[in-house]
Amino acid sequence: MQDIEFKDKIVLVTGASRGIGKAIAAAYSKRGAKVIVNYNKSKEEALELVKCLGGEGCIIEAIQADVSKSKEAEMLVDKVVEKYGRIDILVNNAGIRKDGFLAMMSEEDWDTVINVNLKSLYNVTKWASRVMLRQKKGKIVNISSVSALKGVAGQANYSASKGGVISFTKSMACELGKFGIQVNVVVPGLIETDMSEGLGEIRKNEILASIPLGRAGSIEDVVGGVLFVSSESANYITGHVLVIDGGLSA
Ligand code: NAP
Repeated sequence: MQDIEFKDKIVLVTGASRGIGKAIAAAYSKRGAKVIVNYNKSKEEALELVKCLGGEGCIIEAIQADVSKSKEAEMLVDKVVEKYGRIDILVNNAGIRKDGFLAMMSEEDWDTVINVNLKSLYNVTKWASRVMLRQKKGKIVNISSVSALKGVAGQANYSASKGGVISFTKSMACELGKFGIQVNVVVPGLIETDMSEGLGEIRKNEILASIPLGRAGSIEDVVGGVLFVSSESANYITGHVLVIDGGLSA
């Protein structure tokens, strides 16, 4: 992925204070993009990332917004457009997990996961796509999960939200294609981050045993896919479901 360039592209990455989103933001920044790091609670991590990556000729800034809230998402997009005038690439990455058996699951845990993982796509994409429609150009990458493709006990809320992300992507690809906007979805398997840490050793070992490539994915495995589908090398790809799971769903 070394040769992919994003020089001066305006890139908004949601949930970029930690984990996969943080690495995605860093990868765009290293390739010349002007990156907006959205975060919700992890202010210190987001500011640290901006400090680490910022340097001569490099533009990267952090903006707080809870993307599950429609007003905050609208304000996030407004701030980006006010300052930079456009959005070339949007990565809808923010996500959470609140696992539990459905019979015991609180309505709050259901709603929170659906709102952060799925409604956020409506909240952010609605406003960002208006900007891209005016530009007649843009690339949107949504982050789903292998839990959308493969049943996982205890993840009804998470799986449903991530299944919705795939369906949303396909609809948006059909809706926006004729306006020069591409919409694709990256579907990671088990990736080493804070989120997968919370699964616990026993569950992680069970999953590892069913991965044909025999290992968990690295954050960089996912970053490569995101960069590719948002690059000029992928100009004829839209509505695509790019599964990066070491074969887990095969
Ligand atoms: P992570 O390490 O837990 O990081 C989650 C990120 O999402 C954080 O930066 C967090 O920001 C942000 N976030 C959460 N709620 C938010 C909200 N309401 N508004 C804005 N940002 C919010 O998770 P990860 O593993 O990097 O996951 C990133 C994406 O990949 C998620 O969509 C996840 O579902 C997906 N995924 C992960 C795996 C895996 O194994 N790790 C597998 C498949 C899919 P704050 O800390 O600032 O709140």
